[in-house]
Amino acid sequence: MFSKQTPCYRLLLAFLFFGFVASGETWHYGHEDTWPKMCKEGKRQSPISIDRRKSARKNFSPFIFKNYNKIYSTMLKNNGHSAEVRLKTDEVLTVEGGGLQEVYILDHLHFHWQSEHVIDGYRYPLELHLVHYGKSYGNLSNAVGNEKGVAVFSVLFDLSPDDDVEFTGFIALIDKLKETLDKGERLEDFHIHDYLPRDTAGFYRYLGSLTTPNCTEGIVWTIFTNTIPISESQVKIFHSLKTEEHKELTKNYRPLQKLNGRKVYLKVSPIHKSSRASSLLNAINRDMFLLISILTVSLLY
Ligand SMILES: [Zn+2]
Repeated sequence: MFSKQTPCYRLLLAFLFFGFVASGETWHYGHEDTWPKMCKEGKRQSPISIDRRKSARKNFSPFIFKNYNKIYSTMLKNNGHSAEVRLKTDEVLTVEGGGLQEVYILDHLHFHWQSEHVIDGYRYPLELHLVHYGKSYGNLSNAVGNEKGVAVFSVLFDLSPDDDVEFTGFIALIDKLKETLDKGERLEDFHIHDYLPRDTAGFYRYLGSLTTPNCTEGIVWTIFTNTIPISESQVKIFHSLKTEEHKELTKNYRPLQKLNGRKVYLKVSPIHKSSRASSLLNAINRDMFLLISILTVSLLY
């Protein structure tokens, strides 16, 4: 109908391209100005920068995780924007408590390298999102768009000098996924418990959005203050995944969004300080011990 040289043909191409972008079917990091309207005009968007001192302390009840202590068969996939993990099981993994208004069911997990949320000015090397939907909605697509219909749990990973052996099999499969888009790899022994921090009692809570198009708002965010260690070489493997255009997916975190007066709550864990804070404290303690030892020795001689 259209010759390839005519302006009409070019117009049609442009229409199709922007149509796809607007519908959220094709989108890219680094081109957030082409993301749908809600992403650009929403007032409760995610991710955000969190300042511990400015967060309002709140005493939420503990979380109750069900079926998170078992080993599952999973499918890992590079969806062109992230590494995605789906459990292959009839078991239903649920979480309740922690100030959540209902029981939420786990839908899937996916990763962002580096972290989307920034805590006290620090961007972590890796952030895991465990995406849950409210049980009353039956599935994720019914739940999205309803206020508090979706609850995302964020787990931050921090650098450690050694490889974390718990992730060896998983990381090896991520490495295999780098050339294969949308084709899954099976991982038989996925210990989902290893992907939650040891201490889930401390967390930040705020109301935000999905961090990918269509940036739907009303999402309940939980960001654990306790982190999981991972080595630099393990994080690097995520960076080798490819986009739909076979370019390296080196950046898959959305820029920080405005708080616009929203409240960020903090439940301080009664068990531990965040691992970053405690490792800092350990370092200070080590230095103090060294200083006291030097002073004692110099006083003796
Ligand atoms: Zn995410």
